[in-house]
Amino acid sequence: MGQTLFQKVWDRHAVRLLPNGQTQLYVGLHLVHEVTSPQAFDALRARGWRVRAPERTFATLDHIMPTTAEPRPFKDLMAETMAAALERNCREHKIPLFDRSTGAQGIVHVIGPELGLTQPGMTIACGDSHTSTHGAFGALAFGIGTSQVRDVLASQTLAMSPMKVRRIEVTGRLAPGVYAKDLILAIIGRLGVQAGTGFAYEYAGDTVARLSMDERMTLCNMSIEGGARIGYVNPDVTTIDYLRGRRFAPGANGDTAGFERASEWWRSLASDANARWDDVVHIDADAIAPMVTWGINPGQSVGVDGRLPRSGGGADGEGVSEALEFMGFDSGQAIAGTRIDVAFIGSCTNGRLSDLREAARVVAGQRVAPQVRALVVPGSQAVAAAAQREGLDDIFRSAGFDWREAGCSMCLAMNPDRLNGREICASTSNRNFKGRQGSPTGRTLLMSPAMVAAAAIAGEVVDVRAWGKDARVLAN
Ligand code: SF4
Repeated sequence: MGQTLFQKVWDRHAVRLLPNGQTQLYVGLHLVHEVTSPQAFDALRARGWRVRAPERTFATLDHIMPTTAEPRPFKDLMAETMAAALERNCREHKIPLFDRSTGAQGIVHVIGPELGLTQPGMTIACGDSHTSTHGAFGALAFGIGTSQVRDVLASQTLAMSPMKVRRIEVTGRLAPGVYAKDLILAIIGRLGVQAGTGFAYEYAGDTVARLSMDERMTLCNMSIEGGARIGYVNPDVTTIDYLRGRRFAPGANGDTAGFERASEWWRSLASDANARWDDVVHIDADAIAPMVTWGINPGQSVGVDGRLPRSGGGADGEGVSEALEFMGFDSGQAIAGTRIDVAFIGSCTNGRLSDLREAARVVAGQRVAPQVRALVVPGSQAVAAAAQREGLDDIFRSAGFDWREAGCSMCLAMNPDRLNGREICASTSNRNFKGRQGSPTGRTLLMSPAMVAAAAIAGEVVDVRAWGKDARVLAN
């Protein structure tokens, strides 16, 4: 009987079985940011403990970062306090901190991969739910709470319960205008937001094999929105090509033989053909349309050419009614044509270079609709620099978008970028929960970067597949 990647990586990191049935798991890489780490460092300080493996610990500033060129100290006292605490903690424990002075600052789930810190076969922990992103490389990557951040800082291990593995096999071709974001929204829409509880999601099939690393990261990023703490893709030639030459990847110092040895080992970690999965789900990529969420969780989505469900019936009737009421939508209405106030392109889901390229392709030569506030927030300083080299910033600015500095921005609104009142935001982020974007009554429609770009220009939800053919879009 073969093994899944999950079993192979788990077994290699298991330190011992604990009396309560959990496994003490070694953590290969600990990523730290300013929001979930201050109390964890304080707990160490109170006990006089040191960080167990500072060489496996890396920090960045992302959630609270203003995305305008605001000098220090930040006007927001909370943001300044968190930033100063992380700087002090990193200094004290000799942890590398990627702040803005390094040129490598950005969202923790964007910079880990682009620096080559994220590698196949690792266990990766971070005090943020969307750590599942790193699973795109064939790592077991999961979000942890503040008390677990403390445990990892102190011991480089965690007490974890093993998970079952659900293989999500995607076959067929995504149509032009349909992206990894649409795929994951379609998967969550079909399986639900709780179905992944207790599971790791293994994404496989010829569709997934054709996805770029950026797209695989988008896919794995939102595993947690389907209830799965871990999502991963088996490492292959795409993974290896991405990592070659990255700053912290093996062989970055010119040791090509070392990189080849690592690559061979990475490939051996892929799930065996005769592995046994606890569940297998098939998804037909050909059937997926550009997706738009209409509700208050990421499972409440519909193809852009579809209609919202009818309230009051079925097992989910109550959830539908609550969502429709909050969103101010009518039962059974079409999602296309929904007027928007804000367009946000960014986040750890869709703030990478390929996302910005797709959005720029849509907005080039167009103008943002007069009532729409539109912003692009690159996921990292490296993404921003690469986009600027290609002139994408000029394309966005000419179209009427704000071009901002790297950070989490309006994904979570822990900085000044936020919705006001009942504004509706077309957003490339990952959560449409009530209040997520800073206003308790603000409304979020999740979609792909190309769809957000098209909505920004049209001033309403439109089908990006019809881009250029739609007279209303061109009229703007
Ligand atoms: S972009 Fe959003 S989901 Fe990603 S790390 Fe930042 S706040 Fe969390």
